[in-house]
Amino acid sequence: MSFSLLIDTLNRAADDGKRFDFWLRDDDAIQPTELLEKLLTLTAQAGVPLTLASIPADATIALADRIAVAAHVSVAVHGWNHKNYAPLGAKKQELGLHRGQDKVMQKIEAGLERISALFGPRSVAMLVPPWNRIDAALAPFLGPAGFRGLSVFGPEKRDTSIALLNTHVDVIDWKGNRGGRDADVLAAEVTRRIGQLTDNPLDTIGILTHHQDHDAAAWDFLERLFAHTTGHPACRWMRSEDILSAAGA
Ligand SMILES: [Zn+2]
Repeated sequence: MSFSLLIDTLNRAADDGKRFDFWLRDDDAIQPTELLEKLLTLTAQAGVPLTLASIPADATIALADRIAVAAHVSVAVHGWNHKNYAPLGAKKQELGLHRGQDKVMQKIEAGLERISALFGPRSVAMLVPPWNRIDAALAPFLGPAGFRGLSVFGPEKRDTSIALLNTHVDVIDWKGNRGGRDADVLAAEVTRRIGQLTDNPLDTIGILTHHQDHDAAAWDFLERLFAHTTGHPACRWMRSEDILSAAGA
């Protein structure tokens, strides 16, 4: 049902000469696995660029070797070690100020250094905070530390000192079965996001996945979304670094 609404929306947009930018962010990669291979194959076959948010402290040479031959993949900086420093009972956060600003910035900078060293030309200087949370006080320091962009979850606040390239549709049902959410609900969220887009080049439809948690429903949604959007005149799947470049970041 909701998938047909999405398709109608896209077809109408194409008639009006409109085009929307999509991008795909997949979090937590550290090593080659069967599920990562599945994601790499699915996206390569669909012609969908993929941004992996890799955990710098744990990312392996084997992952770097695999990504070196995956021309459609970019690798962003997923914090440093994906550890929680928030007190018990608070929302999980690696990049809060619990350890003091200097310590956290050191770790963020080490993350960029390691991702750049491991992935070379495939790396993108974009910070993806674990759990999509970062203390707002750190944002002004990201540009001087070498970052072009920051990516969290939800509608962007455009008053930040760094380019925000967010994700908006989370494929996984974290509070439920930790598998893929209902495809029609996800399609409805894509449609709703399309309704929020402005002319800002950083305004995209960002799809968020976690390949290690995918079940059949999650894979099925991605396949359907790609089938309906790749090659559609109202849709363009973008590399994260190209979106940042288009925004002058
Ligand atoms: Zn993560």
